[in-house]
Amino acid sequence: MNCYYHQDKSAVGLCKYCQRGLCSDCDAHAGDSLACKGLHEEQVRAMELLLEKNILQAKRVGMDYMRNTIFYGSVGILFTAFGASQLKWLGVQAVVYLLIGLALLWAALANYLESRKYK
Ligand SMILES: [Zn+2]
Ligand SMILES: [Zn+2]
Repeated sequence: MNCYYHQDKSAVGLCKYCQRGLCSDCDAHAGDSLACKGLHEEQVRAMELLLEKNILQAKRVGMDYMRNTIFYGSVGILFTAFGASQLKWLGVQAVVYLLIGLALLWAALANYLESRKYK
């Protein structure tokens, strides 16, 4: 594969953000990953941060899942109730609200079950 920016040069790696090939002139190091120099450095750094955060979160316990359960649960109930109450007037749009509400309630349930693992 060749560099996306220099078709005549062979790529040494991929930008983590856009997955394009980068030659040694174009690759910028952002954390452990490569990024398009001057273009996606910020994005890749942000992705790295996000990844780190996810790893930290995975190590956390019950309390966070409980907090998520309450958050998703209450927002889910709001959406579901709103969708149900507007069903007569909004039709399809209300169904969308209902579905979002149910998806949130589903997420709440998943978080709740996850939180039980830590007891
Ligand atoms: Zn290049
Ligand atoms: Zn890029």
